[in-house]
Amino acid sequence: MKIEENALIKNSLGINSRCKLLVTIESLEDLPKLKSYINGSKDYYIVGEGTNIVMPNYFDGIIIKANFNHIIEDTENNILKVGAAFNWNNLVKHCVSNGIYGFENLIDIPGSVGASPIQNIGAYGSEVSEVIDSIDCFCLETFQFKTLSNSDCKFTYRDSALKDSKFLIHNINFKINRNSSIFLNYETINKYIGEHSLSSDELSLKDVSEIISTIRSRALPDPNKINNAGSFFKNPIVAIESINFSSYSNDKLILWEQDNKLVKVGAARLIELIKDNISKHPNVSLYDKHCLVLISNGKATQQEILDYASEIKDLVSSTFNIDLEIEPNIVY
Ligand SMILES: Cc1cc2nc3c(=O)[nH]c(=O)nc-3n(C[C@H](O)[C@H](O)[C@H](O)COP(=O)(O)OP(=O)(O)OC[C@H]3O[C@@H](n4cnc5c(N)ncnc54)[C@H](O)[C@@H]3O)c2cc1C
Repeated sequence: MKIEENALIKNSLGINSRCKLLVTIESLEDLPKLKSYINGSKDYYIVGEGTNIVMPNYFDGIIIKANFNHIIEDTENNILKVGAAFNWNNLVKHCVSNGIYGFENLIDIPGSVGASPIQNIGAYGSEVSEVIDSIDCFCLETFQFKTLSNSDCKFTYRDSALKDSKFLIHNINFKINRNSSIFLNYETINKYIGEHSLSSDELSLKDVSEIISTIRSRALPDPNKINNAGSFFKNPIVAIESINFSSYSNDKLILWEQDNKLVKVGAARLIELIKDNISKHPNVSLYDKHCLVLISNGKATQQEILDYASEIKDLVSSTFNIDLEIEPNIVY
């Protein structure tokens, strides 16, 4: 267990953030020791690689990091046991090169394995919930170890019961599926296949992951080069009758039909349509290749980023009568 005072918190938005105490957990035996630090207080926050958090300039509490890096194949039970600190993209690459299906569409999503179920990471028609068998945690209220089944996690679109929860994840048990098929039913993937005259039936796991990697690199900034937290807003799901089409007709919006007359609305397009009305800010702006991504020059504070997001939310609400919800976790 490593303890650091007034430590810097790495985060991909480039916010200059420090905390009172940074506790790095290095073994399972360290976990029960957290009791003496937390001591009934709620002033703690768990971090992974910091690619989906909006940190305050100072967090007056304990930041906890779980440093478990194992990857073990349990062949008898067809389970891949992976430590919370293992890099998500390295797991995807491992699965692709070992013929394990279900991870390939989630290539190049930054961050750690431990954070992947929190917002049920997803991309190109796949979600991590489809490959999770169970999750091994340590409860920061009871100070007991606990294993959660897939259904305990109540996964939905970019959400789960683990968000803002008291469970520190130290290991995830993934299903090993070597006989499945690839999922290509996604507009941008099909467009790419068509443009490159490829045959869907002949694509391997590696081909699919490379195609998605290429498509992603055109639209999303590398957080190691440009400060960002990926999509800053979720695609809202609303009743079609509630949308205000007086400024823009429905063919200008991107709408995916859901059940019960609900539609999922492409948030990037909504922002693209109102972007000229957003005030210019010295430290925060929209990424020029993708309106859903807010970027910072490394000088922006949490407040500046949230104010900028708030202006976008107000403009979208007054134009379309749609409430945008912020996707990254705001830490206070
Ligand atoms: C360029 C870019 C592209 C992205 N693309 C996508 C995408 O396509 N799809 C998508 O879904 N997301 C995407 N994201 C968001 C991000 O990659 C994911 O949310 C990722 O899972 C965050 O991992 P992290 O380790 O950085 O988590 P952090 O940002 O450190 O933490 C995120 C949340 O997880 C919790 N957490 C972290 N570790 C643990 C743990 N061990 N136990 C319990 N809770 C924990 C934290 O408390 C916090 O609530 C993108 C982000 C960027 C910057």
